[in-house]
Amino acid sequence: MSLFRKSVECLSAYVPGEQPQGGGWVKLNTNENPYPPSPKVVEAIKKAAEHNLQMYPDPLVTKFREIAGELFHVDKDWIIPGNGSDEILTLIMRTFVDPGDYIVFPYPSYVLYGTLAEIQGADFEYLPLRHDWSLDLEKCRPVASASKVLFVPNPNSPSGHCWNMDDLMTIRPADGVMVLDEAYGDFCSIPHRGELLHGNYGNRVIITRTFSKSYSLAGIRFGFAIAHPDIIAGMRKVKDSYNCDTLAITAAIAALEDQEWMKQNVNKIKETREYVVQQLAELGFHVIPSEANFVWATHMTGLHREIFDDLKDYKILIRYMTFPGAEQVLGDQRDGLRITIGTEEQMDKLISALEEIVPQLKSKV
Ligand code: PMP
Repeated sequence: MSLFRKSVECLSAYVPGEQPQGGGWVKLNTNENPYPPSPKVVEAIKKAAEHNLQMYPDPLVTKFREIAGELFHVDKDWIIPGNGSDEILTLIMRTFVDPGDYIVFPYPSYVLYGTLAEIQGADFEYLPLRHDWSLDLEKCRPVASASKVLFVPNPNSPSGHCWNMDDLMTIRPADGVMVLDEAYGDFCSIPHRGELLHGNYGNRVIITRTFSKSYSLAGIRFGFAIAHPDIIAGMRKVKDSYNCDTLAITAAIAALEDQEWMKQNVNKIKETREYVVQQLAELGFHVIPSEANFVWATHMTGLHREIFDDLKDYKILIRYMTFPGAEQVLGDQRDGLRITIGTEEQMDKLISALEEIVPQLKSKV
């Protein structure tokens, strides 16, 4: 007899990207920002560390919600912060999904959604996609309609593409919520779709955001959701009292107040992305046009695992991903490479390594 809950006993745990602890790596595997956070963030953290650590933080994180509310044109009651946007996703599951319910999300997309469903004792279904990653609307509608939560990363991971929002709004859950996971939203050329929160379906939409990517703060763990105050009130009931710590709150506020810094870094990354896409194409890679800080690349030889392994010999770490059953999108191979966009210097190292690796692949086909 197992000690564990049945859903935990059966669970294959989510495996995050490798975080090598030794130095010297060109790390392009978990979509971190290669540039440091604003110096104002570092200054604010130092000050908070000197003065505020003996007290509990504000459980409602009021100051942050006020500033974020101004930026996203909502009242502070429309915002709930969390310990990274992964925690926000967990809170959504706890708030809306009972054991036996099911959630839906596109596949391939963020693998964690399925894991969270399983932890909750719930099921999941995939939104059927066409070969060009677009939603197969006729097939999606019945699947989405009966779900409790529809999760859609926009831009998507691992592809980096954005969904057609008009299409998306036609496949809503009849009796559930739609979550637009905008972890990579600041890299996207399509503006933030805040108006969706105020339309007919507005009280069923949740937008999630993170500080891990555009704000260069993956190390502090801070994210938030924007939604109708009734939704936020429900989510507050299931959160830990102090789910955000003082240093993370301080960092998030200072980061939000330095929009200029964030935007400069985002623009640099977007420029580098365009250059990398071109270089990869010249090396025989097919790259999906990306609106995020990473690209999804497949190579004409199909030798993705070999390319990933060979790059490790150069101390370059990218993400090799397989998506069993996703042949309608990825072809028979169902795998590919997700490459985070780093600094220009890091990407030059990647391209130089690939220029040596790719000609050798022919002998392995
Ligand atoms: N959503 C998506 C689509 C992601 O790729 C990630 C990062 N792995 C997250 C949410 C979570 O980001 P964080 O918990 O660092 O805020």
